[in-house]
Amino acid sequence: MKATPEDQNLLIELQLIDSQITQAKTKLAGLPELEQIAAIHARLENTAVELTVVETELADVVIDLRRSELEVEQVDDRIQKDEKRLASGSASPKELEQLQHEVATLGKRKAELEDGELEIMIKHDGVKARVDELLNDQVGLKKLELELNIRLENARTEIDKTLAELAQSRAALVPKIDQALIALYDKIRLSAHGVGAALLVGNKCDGCHLAINAIEIERIKGLAVDEVIRCEECRRILVRI
Ligand SMILES: [Zn+2]
Repeated sequence: MKATPEDQNLLIELQLIDSQITQAKTKLAGLPELEQIAAIHARLENTAVELTVVETELADVVIDLRRSELEVEQVDDRIQKDEKRLASGSASPKELEQLQHEVATLGKRKAELEDGELEIMIKHDGVKARVDELLNDQVGLKKLELELNIRLENARTEIDKTLAELAQSRAALVPKIDQALIALYDKIRLSAHGVGAALLVGNKCDGCHLAINAIEIERIKGLAVDEVIRCEECRRILVRI
């Protein structure tokens, strides 16, 4: 194939633009914010799961606490009733003895119930603290997620702008180059990591960075400037400087 040295140079220009497009796309797909946001999502999910468990536990503890309070109240009511009866002086000696015994038993029962209530209150405070902690975590994580989303959007906007500029440059350049040369370049790019054309720097191909043997270099030197040459190693179009 033949192409003017101008076309070959423009092809290298096109390659530079295409390489920049590839780089920008790679950067877009691998923005660190994407991984950070995914990690925040995982943490939010874990927090939500634990929160459901702990909130259910808290609701149960609140019911236990109410029940315990009620039991204490009931025992207290009976003690007061018995004490009133005792104070009235209308009870018989046998009744008095029974009432005193009952008051003593109820007093013991009340103390036990109050101990139980205290334990439930301590448990309640612990569970409530964990719920508050998780809710706090959730707020912090959501705030962080929002900040990361803003950073991600800014980074994307920046890269999209670069890509749009590169696409514009590419569209302006392509019509200036021989279409058969472009077709060959595009075909090579498909199987050569997006690099279809490279400069011949000294005796090295700038595409695969391998040295070209002396005989081939001599052969290349003898070729007309409009001859399109290919790297023997990577098959990319080699453009002489
Ligand atoms: Zn090569």
